[in-house]
Amino acid sequence: MKFVQVKKTLDYLADIWRSNNTDSAKQKTHISFYGGEPLMNMKLIKQTIKYVEQIDISREFRFSMTTNAMLLDKFMEYLVTKEVDLLISLDGDERGHSYRVKKDGANSFNHVFTNIKLLRSKYPDYFSKHVSFNSVLHNRNSVEGTYKFIEHEFDKQTTISELNNSGIRPEKINEFNMTYQNATDSIMSSENYKQLSKELFLTEPNTSDLLNYLHKYSGNVFKNYNSLLINKTVVETIPTGTCVPFWKKMFVTVTGKILQCERINHEFALGSVTEIGVDLNSDKIASDFNGYLDKLQQQCDKCHRNNGCMQCLFYIDNISGDNPKCQGFMNEEKFKQYSSHCLNHLKNNPKLYKQLMEEVVMN
Ligand code: SF4
Repeated sequence: MKFVQVKKTLDYLADIWRSNNTDSAKQKTHISFYGGEPLMNMKLIKQTIKYVEQIDISREFRFSMTTNAMLLDKFMEYLVTKEVDLLISLDGDERGHSYRVKKDGANSFNHVFTNIKLLRSKYPDYFSKHVSFNSVLHNRNSVEGTYKFIEHEFDKQTTISELNNSGIRPEKINEFNMTYQNATDSIMSSENYKQLSKELFLTEPNTSDLLNYLHKYSGNVFKNYNSLLINKTVVETIPTGTCVPFWKKMFVTVTGKILQCERINHEFALGSVTEIGVDLNSDKIASDFNGYLDKLQQQCDKCHRNNGCMQCLFYIDNISGDNPKCQGFMNEEKFKQYSSHCLNHLKNNPKLYKQLMEEVVMN
């Protein structure tokens, strides 16, 4: 991305922040750098941070980055000075990390591991406050092995992600299936399943499902004081669980496409930023978004999950075509199974209710 595109984007946003069109009470903005590998373009990141620091506005900015840590030794001083929150991709021990290779095909583990250790020994406070880990699960690691390794080596808890199954080329599907490992299966196959599940807390998929369930269906969770006064049975629900564009974030690709989130396919770009400026057409965005929702309305009306739907419409097969079918649709029977799955997990772990409410919901 060219710096001029960054500037045009920030200028565009700054105008909105200064206007009366923003009602965010927090006045805080997080700017995150993703790749590829963001440390490969540190020049642009430095320029961006410098520019943000000069914006004449009373707003707090925080910076974060997802990195493979290969170039951490070169740039750690700057990252520490700017208190950049780092999410380091580390898939566990040497074997677990072995899909992440260097240019010559060799495992990058030793290099990455040494860099992380160096960061920790040089800047222990920064490491403790600003560094976290994410590990991708596949057929060469396990949830337990990865979690224990990172806890033992760095005294941190990693989050575990499964391989993303969207956009795989047809000829690569077999390879994907061989590499893919499901997190629940991996946890269940652990000898210390109970203890591991307890330690993983929200990283454990059943607990994460339960949290969502309590959020949506317990009737005991309120987003704010106003929602205490609203009769939820008369509130019309918007189909799907998709974030309204720009409600939470704005994502800009390296080529200047603007999306509502970094996780969705670029074919759903909402606009673009060029050297001339930001091109976003609100009417078109609203009309496209409503068009997708309309396609699903009938299914959602009949779906027993619709009051607590978490399904992102951009992950529904053929959403751009005719008659897309939502794979998350639940009839009465399926919804009962889903409810008993969540409630059984609570029944088996009764202390979770208090822990989830106190440590997650109320926070
Ligand atoms: S899960 Fe149900 S409510 Fe959600 S998008 Fe699919 S059909 Fe609609």
